[in-house]
Amino acid sequence: MDCIFCKIVNKELPADIVYENENVLAFKDIHPKAAVHILVVPKIHIESINSENSENIVGDLILAAKNIIKRDNITGYKLLFNIGREGGQMVDHLHMHLLAGNPS
Ligand SMILES: [Zn+2]
Repeated sequence: MDCIFCKIVNKELPADIVYENENVLAFKDIHPKAAVHILVVPKIHIESINSENSENIVGDLILAAKNIIKRDNITGYKLLFNIGREGGQMVDHLHMHLLAGNPS
């Protein structure tokens, strides 16, 4: 399967990983839109929020984000999902943007 995020999860492609647990991997966006711009992805391949049962994994993504912001002393932040090309989703592997700090 030619999925860039699956390859990052499988450590076949390098990424600046900032958090990992059993279900979730988080790494820095290579094109940051803010001082902190982290992508939080499920380790299993799910295409998008539109996919069946995606809601079962979203809680894990949010919990990972909460662990990251607590660890890194981030007090204000945004969590963002882009869904579909017209919604700005560029990679067809469900991911959540964690954004904080000034736009860069
Ligand atoms: Zn994938």
